[in-house]
Amino acid sequence: MSSGVEVLTARDVPLGGPRSMKVRRTLPQRARTLIGAWCFVDHYGPDDVGVSGGMDVAPHPHTGLQTVSWLFSGEIEHRDSLGSHAMVRPGELNLMTGGYGISHTEVSTPTTTVLHGVQLWVALPDADRRTGRDFQHYAPAPVALDGAQVRVFLGELAGSVSPVRTFTPLLGAELVLEPRAHITLAVDPAFEHGLLVDAGTVHLDGSPLARTELGYAAPGRDTLSLTNGTDAPARAVLLGGPPFGEEIVMWWNFIARSTEEIVQARRDWTEGRRFGVVEGYDGDPLPAPELPNVPLKPRGNRR
Ligand code: MN
Repeated sequence: MSSGVEVLTARDVPLGGPRSMKVRRTLPQRARTLIGAWCFVDHYGPDDVGVSGGMDVAPHPHTGLQTVSWLFSGEIEHRDSLGSHAMVRPGELNLMTGGYGISHTEVSTPTTTVLHGVQLWVALPDADRRTGRDFQHYAPAPVALDGAQVRVFLGELAGSVSPVRTFTPLLGAELVLEPRAHITLAVDPAFEHGLLVDAGTVHLDGSPLARTELGYAAPGRDTLSLTNGTDAPARAVLLGGPPFGEEIVMWWNFIARSTEEIVQARRDWTEGRRFGVVEGYDGDPLPAPELPNVPLKPRGNRR
C-alpha cells in the first residue's frame, strides 16, 4: 500500500455573520478527523468582499487548540484576549495558542477587496492543552525550487525551517507550482500528509486532486511527488505531522477529551469566565449554540 492517496472533498459551511461568507471544510469529516495534529481545515475564496460582506467574526472562545491563519489575498484584523492586535497578511503566519482558554475576533479590513486563504486548527496534546495563551507571527522567506516556490510556515521542508514553536511535530507550507511542473519533496516517513489544492489540479503521488480537494497520504513515504497538471500556475497547502495518538471531543470552538469538559467550557463562556475579554471590537460576543442531548463522541483516526 504505497501509492494510495485518499481524496477528501469539501463541504460548504456558512461562517456566520449577517451576510454569511461561505467556507469549504475538508477536515474534520466522517472519513478523517485528523492529519497529524491538524484537526480543522477551512478554505475560503477568492471571495469578492463587495458581494459577500467579507469576514466579521465576533468574540468567540477556544480551548485545547491553536489556530493558524494563512492568506493568499486580503487582510484580516485579529484581536484576542491576550491583548494581541495583529494584521493577518498574505504569506505571513499568525499562530494563536488558545491553551486553556482564549477569545478572539477576526474582521477583514476595509481595504480588502478579495479575501482568499485558509483557517486551520491544531489540536493540543493532553499534556499541553492547559498551557497559557500565546500569539506568534512569522513571515517565511520563499524558497525557490526547480519548478516551484515554497513558503514553510511550520516545521521543515526543502531546507527551510520555521522557528515557530508547536507542541507536536508539524509541517505547514504553501506551494506554488509552475505550469506543468513536477517536483519531488523529501518528507519525514513518520508523518502523514494532507495536500489541499487551492488553484489548478495537482497530482499527489499520481492521484489527481482538483481545486478544493484535500489529498491524504499515510505515513511511510520518504518523498512526495507533486505534478501540476495544468498550463497555469497551481497552488496548494501541504500539512503534515505524526499521527495524533489521542482521541478528541470537538464541539463548536472547543477541543476537549470528554462531554463533561465541553459542558464546562460552554458554561464558562456563557458566564463570562476563563476566556478573557477582547478589547476594541464593536459588537457583542457570539453566544454558544445549544448542546445536543446526547453525549459527544470522542473521535480519532483508525490506526
Ligand atoms: Mn476562532
